[in-house]
Amino acid sequence: MKNKGFTTRLVHADRMVNSPENGAVHQATTNSVLFEFKEAQDIVDVFQGKKAGHVYGRSSTASNVALQNILNHIEDGVGAITFATGMAAITATMLSLFKAGDHIIVSHFLFGNTRSLIETMESLGIEISYVDVTDVINVKSALKINTKAVYLETIANPVTQVADLRAIGQLCQAENILFLVDNTMTPANMFNAKSVLASLTIGSLTKYIAGHGNVLGGVVVDTGVFDWESFENILPIYRGTDIAQWGLTQIKKRGLRDMGATLSPTSAHAISVGLETLALRTNKICENAMRLASYLHGHEHVAAVYYPGLADHPQHFLAREHFKGYGGILSFDLTDGIDPIAFLNALNLVICATHLGDTRTLALPVASTIYFECTAEQRHEMNVSDNMIRMSIGIEDVDDLVADFEQAFAQF
Ligand SMILES: *Cc1c(COP(=O)(O)O)cnc(C)c1O
Repeated sequence: MKNKGFTTRLVHADRMVNSPENGAVHQATTNSVLFEFKEAQDIVDVFQGKKAGHVYGRSSTASNVALQNILNHIEDGVGAITFATGMAAITATMLSLFKAGDHIIVSHFLFGNTRSLIETMESLGIEISYVDVTDVINVKSALKINTKAVYLETIANPVTQVADLRAIGQLCQAENILFLVDNTMTPANMFNAKSVLASLTIGSLTKYIAGHGNVLGGVVVDTGVFDWESFENILPIYRGTDIAQWGLTQIKKRGLRDMGATLSPTSAHAISVGLETLALRTNKICENAMRLASYLHGHEHVAAVYYPGLADHPQHFLAREHFKGYGGILSFDLTDGIDPIAFLNALNLVICATHLGDTRTLALPVASTIYFECTAEQRHEMNVSDNMIRMSIGIEDVDDLVADFEQAFAQF
């Protein structure tokens, strides 16, 4: 399957990689939490990891394994673990790999809930440095003797800063520290995480991967780039014969099994179905976003547009190097005097909602919603103005989206 195109692999992977029973093209979904062993020795062997199998629904199910296999396959990794949500995947990874006294360098521009989780980690004694990851220099100067990892997002939300991915990946490799990349905004068809030496990709399946706003999920994939042997936080019990699996084993046991944010089998199946059209959707989304960004860019009622596809975006050259397409997130500042709330109410087709990666185009006022917990000073630091609107572009016929904006602007 490796030499086939992305979507060809996606729609045939379940059948060809996992061979579900009875010629089914989808893995059967079971709600069984428990699994019977006719031979008692088998339950012992599965518990001890000597044999593959499922023992309890919190740790694994066939539906989750099928989804994990496909997600691992498209990242060309050494394994994947799925979770109930993207936040569960991030939390489980962080809390199973790091401990008090460790230092982690994180992006200054993080998804709000991740930022809040990082604050919890600080309260547990993990040292954090926030840096501007659009330039590797800032990461380099934050390195300390106890630095264990760098954590960032490929394209940040809502201002669309693009991380200096290749240079940071090379720095992490030279320093022998983990490079954790949240690639929610740029799934595997748009971005090759392994090529920038990401150790783990972590992200939300809720967004572009599932794509239809009807299911939550998260995942961590190990790209196989990192040498776990030198990572001192791996507990002796998880140092098995296959060193490539050490990190995922610890995340699976300490993060998934113990913390318990398991993806349900029906959700795993719904995500697998959504995933089949990932490239079709994101190609259309990127095309629509580029057109809308260009339309808004010169508009008299728009003070600024943030979209990595625009030539005047500060990291346009990085985005062009790393991504196929420029993503579906586009933010803009209305000119002073136009109230973002009134403007959103004037849009008819565009839905006012806080989600992204959907088939439908969504918008929300940024400062008063996802950033309302921040002080005005913090918002200013993150370049979030009071007039900012964040859009998540969908797959609609783009002329209809432009027309919706035209009629809304005409009211001001
Ligand atoms: C939405 C999102 C998450 C969290 O995912 P959930 O599935 O909603 O828990 C994490 N990171 C980024 C960049 C996101 O956009």
